[in-house]
Amino acid sequence: MCQKNQLLLMKAQKINITDSAVFISDLHLTDNASNNIFLNFLEHSSVLTNNLFILGDLFDYWVGDDSGMYSNEISALREFGEQKNIYFIHGNRDFLIGRNYFRENQITILDDETQITLGHHRVLLMHGDTLCSDDSDYQAFRKEVRSKKWQENFLAKKLDERISIASDLREQSKKLNLNKPENIIDVNEKTVNSVIEKNPPIEILIHGHTHRQNTHRYNAFTRFVLGDWKENQGNYLIWKEAKGFEFKTFS
Ligand code: MN
Repeated sequence: MCQKNQLLLMKAQKINITDSAVFISDLHLTDNASNNIFLNFLEHSSVLTNNLFILGDLFDYWVGDDSGMYSNEISALREFGEQKNIYFIHGNRDFLIGRNYFRENQITILDDETQITLGHHRVLLMHGDTLCSDDSDYQAFRKEVRSKKWQENFLAKKLDERISIASDLREQSKKLNLNKPENIIDVNEKTVNSVIEKNPPIEILIHGHTHRQNTHRYNAFTRFVLGDWKENQGNYLIWKEAKGFEFKTFS
């Protein structure tokens, strides 16, 4: 079967989970740190569930699949993925991760706004940055860097040049504290509503990005916002058929 057909087939396959699933996002791992908390979490979650969903910003930066960065984390993910299912949605920091590269490492990349079912719940998964529509500067930046042209141009640069561009961006972002919740503009509720309306009959939305872990209950749906991770503490949302949804911390 040619690759295109395989891709179409994968797209057509619905993810229907009947037992349990774990959701995390916004770990912002850096290549020069030990990231033991994440490596320990993978071991921990292998007993919790067969289905791990990473909803973006697992990595604080990604400069191309050829960088050799995060090799410990990638091999731990591959090991996990050989036994269980790992699904990933790109965040605004790690949007350059290639589908084929992740597939080779046993991770399935899903589109932003993917519908799944958890038991009888219909659930929509997103990173969440597109919901922050009041931040027009960011949305313009996003449009540019998500374009094929920008990505081809960036990835065609030599690795050391890409690394230096990424580190400049990180320095700028550090100075502005752009990773802090008070500096991330929150979701626009009208945009949340229009996403729900566009994806009937969704009753649950799970996303990250804003670093504002919370459960928001609306008339017709519930919105779970995943939290960000600290160096020594992580958190996750778990769904179990018998117990429903629950936020947990991990350290
Ligand atoms: Mn983000």
